[in-house]
Amino acid sequence: MQTQFNKSAKKMKARYHCSVPGCLYFNGSERFFAEKKLLNQHIVKVHAEKKYSCGKCTKSFGLDSLRKLHEKTCGIEWKCTCGVKYSSRESLLTHARRTQHRLPDHIINPDKM
Ligand SMILES: [Zn+2]
Ligand SMILES: [Zn+2]
Ligand SMILES: [Zn+2]
Repeated sequence: MQTQFNKSAKKMKARYHCSVPGCLYFNGSERFFAEKKLLNQHIVKVHAEKKYSCGKCTKSFGLDSLRKLHEKTCGIEWKCTCGVKYSSRESLLTHARRTQHRLPDHIINPDKM
């Protein structure tokens, strides 16, 4: 039996597609990775399993460092010494700047909690 394949077919460039539906690099898409290594990097970066979950809320993260960063501020009440509450640190800082109110230390320096 004779082989029908010619030489060029043998050295076909590999195309690595992502297996996550909806991804830009999903099977059939024009985008692909030429190396398996790059595909793996993509998967880790973009689709990594979010196995690090916050102990205080339902959020989870792909990296432990991100989780720790989040946990630092998770559950904090952004509350000024005057009693006004805000949903984010930025809004509270703006309020304090405008009104010259003093903020609790843990809000000024969240790293020292
Ligand atoms: Zn992907
Ligand atoms: Zn949280
Ligand atoms: Zn205030």
